[in-house]
Amino acid sequence: DINNVNNFVAKIVEEDLASGKIDKVITRFPPEPNGYLHVGHAKSICLNFGLADKFNGECNLRFDDTNPEKESQEYIDAIKEDVTWLGFKWSGDVRFSSDYFDTLHDYAIALIKSGNAYVCSLKPEEADEYKGDFNRPGKNSPYRDRTVEENLDLFGRMKAGEFKDGEHALRAKIDMASGNMNLRDPIMYRIRHVEHHQTGNKWCIYPIYDFTHGQSDALEGVTHSVCTLEFEDHRPLYDWYINHLPVPAKPKQYEFGRLSLNYTVTSKRKLKKLVDENVVAGWDDPRMPTISGMRRRGFTPASIRNFCEMIGVSRSDGVVDVAMLEHALRSDLNTHAPRAMAVINPLKVVITNMADDHYEEITVESMPDIGSDTDSEGGEEKEAPASLLRQVPFTKEIFIDQEDFKEEYSKKFKKKFCPGKRIRLRNGYVIEATDFIKNDAGDIVQVNAIQVTTVLGEDPVDEVKPKGVVHWVSASHGIEAELRIYGRLLNHESPDRGGEDFMTHVNPDSLSVISAIVEPSLAQAAPETVFQFEREGYYVADRHDHTTDKPVFNLTIGLREDKSL
Ligand code: ATP
Ligand code: MG
Ligand code: MG
Repeated sequence: DINNVNNFVAKIVEEDLASGKIDKVITRFPPEPNGYLHVGHAKSICLNFGLADKFNGECNLRFDDTNPEKESQEYIDAIKEDVTWLGFKWSGDVRFSSDYFDTLHDYAIALIKSGNAYVCSLKPEEADEYKGDFNRPGKNSPYRDRTVEENLDLFGRMKAGEFKDGEHALRAKIDMASGNMNLRDPIMYRIRHVEHHQTGNKWCIYPIYDFTHGQSDALEGVTHSVCTLEFEDHRPLYDWYINHLPVPAKPKQYEFGRLSLNYTVTSKRKLKKLVDENVVAGWDDPRMPTISGMRRRGFTPASIRNFCEMIGVSRSDGVVDVAMLEHALRSDLNTHAPRAMAVINPLKVVITNMADDHYEEITVESMPDIGSDTDSEGGEEKEAPASLLRQVPFTKEIFIDQEDFKEEYSKKFKKKFCPGKRIRLRNGYVIEATDFIKNDAGDIVQVNAIQVTTVLGEDPVDEVKPKGVVHWVSASHGIEAELRIYGRLLNHESPDRGGEDFMTHVNPDSLSVISAIVEPSLAQAAPETVFQFEREGYYVADRHDHTTDKPVFNLTIGLREDKSL
């Protein structure tokens, strides 16, 4: 619950509502459209949209688009899709910081007129020198005392396109000796002769993030502007602009700890490198910690939201164990993923006491009975809804997994299916192995067996019960499917801390493609449906490549904790 103490921002909002400081909470999620969203952004999305949901407020989706050269429509579309897929709805239309370029320009003029901004003509290297550093106060720019008229004239000509990139910049006149570097006359506008995806060629000057963000918040009536800790020392500047401009509201910035996961990089720049260097097949490659990659991997929106709730929101950065994310995923799939059967290393079993053309459809319930709200007290068996029932063909020849048969009985072998021993076919009958056939290489290629029971769910009449249950698929009706087995993309616990380039930690064996024989119902699966392949793991029908003619499943995650992503 977002209202509990593991979310300090929710506490603040609750108090502000209770004290009457605000009537309604308004938040925003402000991605820069310069890449796809990743699991770290999911934390921010769940926080911002979660606050709006919890307290009947609103959350805006605002593209922070002040660096046009790195941004694109592709990223905008992907971000909208990801937020929607996670289960959130933004208030009204999507917004763009660029919607406010005219107003921000007016605000800049206002600051010039009040003597709080000036056009600086230092070259970038010179400006660095004047800026000083943490140990050394800066020096005033020689252009700091330009008159209002001169500043208005130069700024107008910057806007009119009379100058080249970098020739001049508009700066706020604050304090070159401030201990906070962000207050040493920060740049408000710089010249960039580039087309913008929203505003085309209307502008050749663009506002800096710091001059844009707070004012956009104010214009949207945002009450709580929540961002990550690295913006903590930008807050005095955020407040300075708000206090020196005729803005319609006074939003407040709050910072929380960003999410880092071990074995994972969460930086769009680094993820882009993996894409650009073809280490992965794209931003939504199932190995990527992007929201679209996780989606294609078989993560459900609920599993990601639950994870974000589990980790909470605090004012410290910490590294979260990826096992927590895996745990959230596994718990959700365990309760919600329909079961099905797939045989990865097929071994043919011929049921010799069965007619050659035997064909039977066994009706199987696909959903596990885990914590279901079925009322068992009445003693009445509830029927599974038809959509959760499927037909599994049973024929004379079936496949089981090679692992599930041994030529000799041994105490270690749990299933104990070997000549003279019995096994229960999952959802089916009990069979008993009689003998087997080997090929020239000495591998067992066929097991002969007899069917022992003919009524589903019953034990053999002689009461010699089988020791194990195995999954299986009809040999004549099973369908070949491609399985994409994904492992960790990065094989170092902290790939981007410690000296080396994270690219040196790319796991060269993070993908292997194998095949399996799957029950026919799986070919009909809708893309993006996640199944538990019984005894094998969770697999999702690939969002793009899965078809009835050529089924493709991605390994989402193994069944147990020790089988990690
Ligand atoms: P990156 O370094 O990956 O480019 P960013 O912070 O520059 O990340 P933005 O598009 O500006 O990316 O982020 C949008 C929002 O998501 C911001 O409010 C940002 O603070 C938040 N966010 C980004 N990464 C994380 C993270 N790892 N954990 C929590 N919130 C994050
Ligand atoms: Mg950013
Ligand atoms: Mg960034």
